[in-house]
Amino acid sequence: MNIGTLLTTSAASRPENSAIVCGPRRVNYEQFNARVNCLSNALRRLGARPHDNIAILMVNFPQMLEVMFAAFKAGCGAVPINWRLHPSEFAYIIDNAEATILFTTAEFDEQVSQIRRDLPRLRHIITTGLATGDLQDYEAVLAAESEHFADIDVAPDDVAWLFYTSGTTGVPKGAMLTHRNLLGMTKRFYSDICPDFGDDEVVLHAAPLSHGSGLYALPNIGRAATHVFLELTSFDPDSVLETIQSQRVTNLFAAPAMIKRLVDCPAIDHTDVSSLKAFVWGGAPMMVEDLQQAITKFPNMVQIYGLGETPMTITYLPRRDHVLGGSDAQTKRLASAGIRRTDVDVAIVDGNDCFLAVGEMGEIVTRSDVMTKGYWRDPEATTETLRRGWLHTGDLGYFDEDGYLFLMDRSKDMIISGGENIYPREIEEVLAQHPAVCEVAVIGVPDKQWGEAIKAVVSLVPGQDVTEEALIAFCKSRIASYKKPKSVDFVAELPKNNYGKIVKRDLREPYWRGHQRSI
Ligand code: AMP
Repeated sequence: MNIGTLLTTSAASRPENSAIVCGPRRVNYEQFNARVNCLSNALRRLGARPHDNIAILMVNFPQMLEVMFAAFKAGCGAVPINWRLHPSEFAYIIDNAEATILFTTAEFDEQVSQIRRDLPRLRHIITTGLATGDLQDYEAVLAAESEHFADIDVAPDDVAWLFYTSGTTGVPKGAMLTHRNLLGMTKRFYSDICPDFGDDEVVLHAAPLSHGSGLYALPNIGRAATHVFLELTSFDPDSVLETIQSQRVTNLFAAPAMIKRLVDCPAIDHTDVSSLKAFVWGGAPMMVEDLQQAITKFPNMVQIYGLGETPMTITYLPRRDHVLGGSDAQTKRLASAGIRRTDVDVAIVDGNDCFLAVGEMGEIVTRSDVMTKGYWRDPEATTETLRRGWLHTGDLGYFDEDGYLFLMDRSKDMIISGGENIYPREIEEVLAQHPAVCEVAVIGVPDKQWGEAIKAVVSLVPGQDVTEEALIAFCKSRIASYKKPKSVDFVAELPKNNYGKIVKRDLREPYWRGHQRSI
């Protein structure tokens, strides 16, 4: 089934249900589906054929959901781009996806004009902002089309969503998520995450639509739920809390750093959050103490562990396990990533891909129909990741006797700051370009607000000098702002092993003493 048909079916069965709430604007399912159909027709008119990829560089506005579903219905791959990336990364993704059509919101019109010359393939840019130059007006494009569209018949393994991950070498890779994958994710949302999900649900899109919130839009559309948008470009805890109460929100997805801000927000103590049926969190670990505090404030929390390559679906810590004052075993489980999802195989392997026993730590591998079929135009990375039919997560962990998975570390030294994955190598490459820098290693250090903060440890070229501020500014001008180091420490020499390689474990150790990270 075409995953876009979730919308077609909901519009047919519950046309009057509110689909979109954004400020004063309300759109029902019949109207929402009609707008999406217009866009699917527009895609066709603009030359998009099934299997083509449509780039989407938009902030969390309802139009982003419209474009995603228009692409699905037209049999195209939707390519939602993380808008916090650097313009050079936007360009890389748009070009790599071979997109000829790009949808943007006003925030990016200027940046898009700047990168335009690096994108010779791009034929149409449609903006919700000001249609100047060769930018086309979103509403005008939509208005020119028919409201009727027959969803394209797709094969289950056709690409529906090209999900760009940060990539271990700094170059983003497009995980191909198929219609089968997204349907599998949707079904498992109903079975595992919120078994009592009904016909009058309300989802709040507080997290980016290019990631978790966009993925969980699908099960919500499948049940004709109301999608609430905040019209904000940054996370504002007061607005989120106020909206949960006023719109009687029943489900949302948030990263641990967002939850911490909600818990710390004074308004939490006089906000009614009892409407929440599934407060889904994941994307990064949460300290047990923080989770316990969150449980005192929010009902029905559910943790999910997954990757872009296995959208939202490897293991989960169900609502019933989010308890306070339980037995020792129950308290211990709060530090876990939960149990495997319905019909999802999860195993632990050693460096030779041999299965390990309960309690033994190794790489987490998974196998299910909610697993990418590979990386777009990258057969090498595909073969490497999908060895022997199992998807290799790059995460280290172990299972306990009761089947709970404990994530211990991320191989490849990935840093997760505020729910964003950051690969140190990318920042190290930038800093190494500075004339005063001799050697550099970038690590994550504990941070109360963001989970981890980026620290660069640098040794200088003899006779050269540079300040911490200058190095941070150097990074800021070259990579996305959230990837710049928060601090820089200067050392005479970086710790190395016998092979002359920098030992990050040793480097991290003093910063993590007394904290929970397994270094
Ligand atoms: P992404 O592909 O951006 O979704 O990032 C996936 C990575 O985020 C995983 O490989 C994990 O390292 C991390 N991650 C996702 N969910 C969790 C979780 N519940 N607890 C700890 N780490 C997580």
